[in-house]
Amino acid sequence: MSLSARTAVVALLILFGSHAFAADHATLACVGAKIYPSPTESPIDDAVLIVEDGKIVTVAPKSTAKYQLPATALKLDCAGKIVVAGYWNSHVHFTNGWDNAGTAPAANLEAHMQEMLTRWGFTTVWDLGSTPQNTMALRRRVDAGEVPGPKILMAGDIFPKGGHPAYLPSEMQLPEAATPQEAEQMAKQYMAMGLDGMKLFTGAYMGDKPVINMDTAIVKAAADVAHAHGKPVFAHPQNRIGMENALNGGVDILAHTIPEQSFTFTDANLAQMKRQHSALIPTLTLWTTVVPDPAIQEGLVQQGVSELKSYFSEGGTILFGTDVGFITKYDIAQECEFMGRAMGWRDILASLTTNPSTYFKAANKGRVEKGMDADLVVLDGDPAADVRNLARVAYTVRAGKVIYAKPAASASGSN
Ligand SMILES: [Zn+2]
Repeated sequence: MSLSARTAVVALLILFGSHAFAADHATLACVGAKIYPSPTESPIDDAVLIVEDGKIVTVAPKSTAKYQLPATALKLDCAGKIVVAGYWNSHVHFTNGWDNAGTAPAANLEAHMQEMLTRWGFTTVWDLGSTPQNTMALRRRVDAGEVPGPKILMAGDIFPKGGHPAYLPSEMQLPEAATPQEAEQMAKQYMAMGLDGMKLFTGAYMGDKPVINMDTAIVKAAADVAHAHGKPVFAHPQNRIGMENALNGGVDILAHTIPEQSFTFTDANLAQMKRQHSALIPTLTLWTTVVPDPAIQEGLVQQGVSELKSYFSEGGTILFGTDVGFITKYDIAQECEFMGRAMGWRDILASLTTNPSTYFKAANKGRVEKGMDADLVVLDGDPAADVRNLARVAYTVRAGKVIYAKPAASASGSN
């Protein structure tokens, strides 16, 4: 055996060894909850849910379920609670507060992960832009079980030439593409790094100066590379030109509603989005953070709601996403409330679960059914009664491991 072959075998052993170590062989049980198997099915009241080796093995009414739990089973306090599938946040950033993720103490990272993501039920997230090496280091620590967290998918960013957004620090080095050839090279590098998708700033916000858009030919050059690798392409559209260049260049997902004054999707836009199976991420809470005037904020939110409503009523795919990590409003209750102005609670649940699982081809995620990954959210309130209950998380479970548990109320109790 050559030295390199031996190194490869050792590397393989380490890989499998660490996986075996990280795997959770314990049984997890949740008895007495009301389970919504999917956004479209009827709930199962007073149910039994059992997880083994990270997979759901039983979901049934307690009255008919035949089961025996091993003494070592972890029993969650589920009586009277609600269970839905683990949430996806399809627009986050591991930027604010994630420096030195490879070396920072695990406890600090866990605390920040809770504050930003796991206490809101997220078991899978799309990072749409950060320092890739840093987020990859974080992802390795999460996947090794060192930092409880969601599955992290990463997109590589490309900006238009001279399109350094006004809200990003000027010293930050950004990959700007001046030509289709440059965009193609950058996209190939991202794919070679093993990233899961691409994010293109087809419109870059420049403050007082006009938005800088990315030419359609540049969009297409980058999108073609990602698509050749079977990877999705997101766009930050910013204005009408940015939105149309994104669609014409083959972008899959609009990562925001469009904050341009009095913007609406035209019938032609909506038809093209439907034809191309585009998805829309509303990020409505973001519009409360970009201007200080509450009246202007409300106007931007309401415009986003109208855009969401117009694509949703055409049957378009909606993905939940909040831009957290860029914004620090982590609570998702407001986003649910804003989305609730355009759609029902089941549709919001779909944007958190089945829509992203289908769109990003994660066949084992999105539903609470036998055989599926045990990515679960246990809620303290029923979203059918109030959409904001989607934010009242008691437990977040990823692959059968509890990655967040709401602290028990203290004896002195505030209420
Ligand atoms: Zn963002």
